[in-house]
Amino acid sequence: MKAFTYQRVSTPAEAAQAAYRTPNARFIAGGTNLLDLMKLEIETPAHLIDVNGLKLDQIEPLPDGGLRVGALMRNTDLAADMRIRRDYAVLARALLAGASTQLRNRATTAGNLLQRTRCAYFYDTNMPCNKRKPGSGCSAIGGFTRQHAVVGASEACIATHPSDMAVAMRVLDAEVETVKPDGAGRVIPIADFHRLPGSTPHIEHVLEPGELIVSVKLPRPVGGQHFYRKVRDRASYAFALVSVAAIVQPNGTGRVALGGVAHKPWRVEAAEQKMAQGAKAVADQLLAGAKPTHDNEFKIPLVQRTLASVMAEAKKGA
Ligand code: SF4
Repeated sequence: MKAFTYQRVSTPAEAAQAAYRTPNARFIAGGTNLLDLMKLEIETPAHLIDVNGLKLDQIEPLPDGGLRVGALMRNTDLAADMRIRRDYAVLARALLAGASTQLRNRATTAGNLLQRTRCAYFYDTNMPCNKRKPGSGCSAIGGFTRQHAVVGASEACIATHPSDMAVAMRVLDAEVETVKPDGAGRVIPIADFHRLPGSTPHIEHVLEPGELIVSVKLPRPVGGQHFYRKVRDRASYAFALVSVAAIVQPNGTGRVALGGVAHKPWRVEAAEQKMAQGAKAVADQLLAGAKPTHDNEFKIPLVQRTLASVMAEAKKGA
């Protein structure tokens, strides 16, 4: 691990200013992803800004009936909160499907959104990777791609986003609240927060230099039955091959987002208009234009079957 300097901060504005002023600085909270990347020298920050002292670990009710979730709320605490379990069950289920108990006890809401891909070539510093070293090439293309993206990928990168939590937040239409170094706040719809890889896969989100996530806003509850169905190679501590986050209303309408298939949580609102036509119609629209590889073409029927299973369960529970 490379040497780095370290500081603690006491306000979000102080954190954002320090990150803006200091070259090659990173925020650290739970450190469940960043420390691994530092040990492998994939991330080599010169300066760490410890944000754990910020008072951002609470849930606050909003006047419109929604909730504001603090950026430092641990995944375990968020999943256990009675308001989340009752009104945003898709989020509680997605959180509990992620990682392991020990990791969820440390991982934060903001860190979960910002975690980096688990593409094996990204972690292997002997292999070219455009995300790790822009312009070096993509070892996954032509390599082993069972876990990789089938939609929204590019010639430069076919990695997936690993978060379960973010998929649930996408189906809930959450918004990310930030503070910039000049003290101004910003609200970013989760749909716009993560970027597709294009020709710059190393730029994964729309945060500006120094900008700090302070909270995530959950809109007023929408009711309905909530599902998070994750298909993976083993029952726990594995990333999704495919996941489906869904909210289904008693009249059969609903919302659907997918994990494990793209560089960001994948939702196509037009597909939701086809719920009455069944899972195949919804899946076909969600994955329109998909370009799977030989190793991951199984994801296309897997999305359809997982969605069919969720919709059948919703019908039974209606
Ligand atoms: Fe790197 Fe993306 Fe290619 Fe993986 S898929 S090797 S992360 S450029």
